[in-house]
Amino acid sequence: MNSLWDDQEAARFATDAMLGLRVYSSQLLGRDTDLVLHGGGNTSVKGSLVNVFGQSEEVLFVKGSGWDLQTIAAGGFAPVRLDYLKRLATLPALSDTGMMRELRLALLDPNAPTPSVEAILHALIPLRYVDHTHADAVVAISNTPDGEAVLRKLYGDEVLILPYVMPGFILAQQVHQATLNADWSRLKGIVLLHHGIITFDDDCRASYESMIALVNKAEGYLRNRGAWTQAATARHAPKSVDFIHLAALRHQASDMMGSPVLARWDRSAEAVGYSLLPGVADIATRGPLTPDHSIHTKAFAAIFDDDPRDGLARFQSAYNDYFSQHAAPHHTCLDQVPRFGIWREKGMLYIAPDSKRIGVVGDISAHTVKAIQWAEALGGWVALPKQDLFDIEYWELEQAKLKRGQTRGEFEGRVVLVTGAGSGIGKACVEAFVSKGAAVVALDINTTITGMWSSRQVLGRVCDVTDTQQIEAAVQAAVETFGGIDVLVSNAGNFPPSRQLKDMDAQTWEQSLSLNLSSHMNMLRACIPFLELGIDASVVFIGSKNVPAPGPGASAYSVAKAGLAQMARVAALELGSKGIRVNTIHPNAVFDTSLWTDEVLAQRALSYQLTVDEYKKNNVLGRNVGSSDVARLAVQMAGEGFACTTGAQVPVDGGNDRVI
Ligand SMILES: [Zn+2]
Repeated sequence: MNSLWDDQEAARFATDAMLGLRVYSSQLLGRDTDLVLHGGGNTSVKGSLVNVFGQSEEVLFVKGSGWDLQTIAAGGFAPVRLDYLKRLATLPALSDTGMMRELRLALLDPNAPTPSVEAILHALIPLRYVDHTHADAVVAISNTPDGEAVLRKLYGDEVLILPYVMPGFILAQQVHQATLNADWSRLKGIVLLHHGIITFDDDCRASYESMIALVNKAEGYLRNRGAWTQAATARHAPKSVDFIHLAALRHQASDMMGSPVLARWDRSAEAVGYSLLPGVADIATRGPLTPDHSIHTKAFAAIFDDDPRDGLARFQSAYNDYFSQHAAPHHTCLDQVPRFGIWREKGMLYIAPDSKRIGVVGDISAHTVKAIQWAEALGGWVALPKQDLFDIEYWELEQAKLKRGQTRGEFEGRVVLVTGAGSGIGKACVEAFVSKGAAVVALDINTTITGMWSSRQVLGRVCDVTDTQQIEAAVQAAVETFGGIDVLVSNAGNFPPSRQLKDMDAQTWEQSLSLNLSSHMNMLRACIPFLELGIDASVVFIGSKNVPAPGPGASAYSVAKAGLAQMARVAALELGSKGIRVNTIHPNAVFDTSLWTDEVLAQRALSYQLTVDEYKKNNVLGRNVGSSDVARLAVQMAGEGFACTTGAQVPVDGGNDRVI
């Protein structure tokens, strides 16, 4: 592990004298996923503020709850009265809710985020900068039979080593007691066994680089003991039945959750290698790397066989036992859906209610898999007792973190596949479904599709829908990434050159039928097995006004779209008994799409003897119709508003007198 400190970069942050460097080195810690993951860890700096009476007050600026170190800004640090925090540490006891109330009371800015649950601990350390991470290497060593002894030997008297206690007030008290007579000038850090590590210094860079140096010692130890390269790797050639099993698993997990969830298959060499380890079922269910992870991943993994649904039932029963053994009377059992599991010989499976959280589960699992193998090489993975894990998973403060700011979008946990997603109507459909919380697979023949979406919510993938092998691969990628397909928006198409029938050439005719008709059938056929396992599954075909009202010179297009509309009606009949709805949108004159080049627009206007502008608004409502208007209807068709409608053909055309 290297220090990422860069003087020039630091200088840009340092223009904010109070918090600039604090923000900078917090981001550096956050950038290294071997140190912290997704909201883990926290940092602080001590300074002062002048209040409205002109008096200077000593302040701890501590990471606000809900902020991520990698992306934290000055506004993410909550200013808390330092002496108040120090007094809190002397109380004999303080409940969790009592502590959070006091932390908010001690804020110097009522609009600041709620201070980290470790605020009191940060206040007790008399150095200006305090950094706390859950460094993989340090925690992994501490999760071994001789972990404590190894760390004591490794760090000598520069580092205080403390046994695991519950984070928050109890941890603050522990540190308070343990450091009453500490010589802070000699101490470089504190290791919290099974949890993490703290460093501190009056200098920002020194505190950060102490962290790097101490973690490096732990990494060096793993190297010397030959543990560093122990991670198993292997490959698994997927079979098509694997994808069906995965979609069935996701469907059942959604039933158990009572709302749609996503599932992801990790087929990386590390995940497959791990799933092949002898004894993996035992080591994977012992517990997480650091207890903080259990709020995202639950305390232990599921074990999945060929048909992974059996694993869900086994996990449910194991989770019920875990709950009844460790719960207090006031606890209510959370959902019994695993968040990650070993799929024997095939890799890892992740399950979560949305695309952001499934990414979090995947990242945490990757680090856990690596750390467990280090620890196994050092003599065995020893996680915390299940009661400690339970106490964290059911800690009201952690549960509050998960719930904050979560209003579920209408399509959250659902998977939408859109073809022709690189521009026009397809692109607008991706945006519309994303805004409703859906996980979207965006396919396009144009290679720019892969870079078009940077969020975890969208998988952009190149696919030529006239190639059945590419369709197959794209559908499998969708299922591998999100666990299934609930909605197909079959949109890809083009407008061939205008030709009278007397001049029609075979190529124009056949290419149009291939893209505008056959490709939709091939895509639908590939998706049907997954739509059958989908959640409120539906298909939206993007047809054309040319179906009810064709124009001269557009036979290759109109005939293909008419065929598509007829296929959609047959599909509605065939798939209705499976609960799959199939509806068609007939857009007209949507000019913000790539079909409508200036040339085509001019030609069409001419054929109606209109100017281009007249042609654009030539509808009953006199409205300019856009891609987003079509996308809005596609979302409606896939939603509750169309729950009882299948086989419908709905125009989005501003009202066309030839259609009406
Ligand atoms: Zn921590």
